[in-house]
Amino acid sequence: MITIDLSDRVAVVTGGSSGIGLACVERFLEAGAAVAFCGRDQARLDAARDKLQQKYPQARLLAHACNVLDAEEVGAFADAVRSHFGRTDMLINNAGQGRVSTFATTTDDAWREELELKYFSLLRPTRAFLPMLREARGSIVCTNSLLALQPEPHMVATSSARAGVVSLTKSLATELAPDGVRVNSILVGLIESGQWRRRHAEQAREGQSWEDYTGELARKKGIPLGRLGLPDEAAQAIFFLATPMSSYTTGSHIDVSGGLAKHV
Ligand code: NDP
Repeated sequence: MITIDLSDRVAVVTGGSSGIGLACVERFLEAGAAVAFCGRDQARLDAARDKLQQKYPQARLLAHACNVLDAEEVGAFADAVRSHFGRTDMLINNAGQGRVSTFATTTDDAWREELELKYFSLLRPTRAFLPMLREARGSIVCTNSLLALQPEPHMVATSSARAGVVSLTKSLATELAPDGVRVNSILVGLIESGQWRRRHAEQAREGQSWEDYTGELARKKGIPLGRLGLPDEAAQAIFFLATPMSSYTTGSHIDVSGGLAKHV
């Protein structure tokens, strides 16, 4: 595994208590960085912090409850990171979830909610952490979805909002380049995580194991690599884009979909 020494750097991960975000937290800790992460559910956050602290006794960690859609809470999170660690070098805008709905079943309120989640989960943390990112000439990485380029009718609002976020990421990259702040994203396909665990609990046939459920899903979706991705496989791509390993890359994205993308 390729890695890099980040012992003088600070990473901030939104939605770090589960799935892709939690895998990112681990990846940064393994490289020696101090890591701050947030999620809304205090119990889940505490459980993640305790597990990480056990696995990495030397870890410099800050777990902070915060809803990324709440400007005040995000501001308080940024203040806490500054007072704990004094800086932010890498911001990973990862918090969120998808919405399963067609045009026929998406109400106006659901559209607003989905657009707010996809845009403001990126805008609010970016605004709050930007002064520190500018000081550090740091980087931002957003977890986006392949749905941005390959919309699915059963996730109409999510797909549409995700497409907008590709554009926003590119605009941010251009605007922040003179400050030395790079902005990139990953486009994930289906990654094993809390979201899919919840869907397994709700949708699986009685007695259907997780392995059987995800195997069937991969076949049904036609994923060329024949399986769902692991959270760490998404985290590796985020790690590359966040660190100086990708120092000449901005306004770009990496596909982490197991070959599911149909375009060239
Ligand atoms: P998980 O459900 O495992 O993790 C989501 C994390 O985000 C949790 O820590 C959750 O904590 C946090 N979170 C959700 N909403 C908020 C909020 N408003 N404020 C703060 N934290 C929040 O899911 P994934 O790891 O799969 O998801 C990570 C990202 O990847 C999401 O943006 C998701 O939409 C995207 N994605 C994932 C795909 C997949 O197949 N897994 C496919 C396409 C995109 P809490 O609930 O306690 O707040």
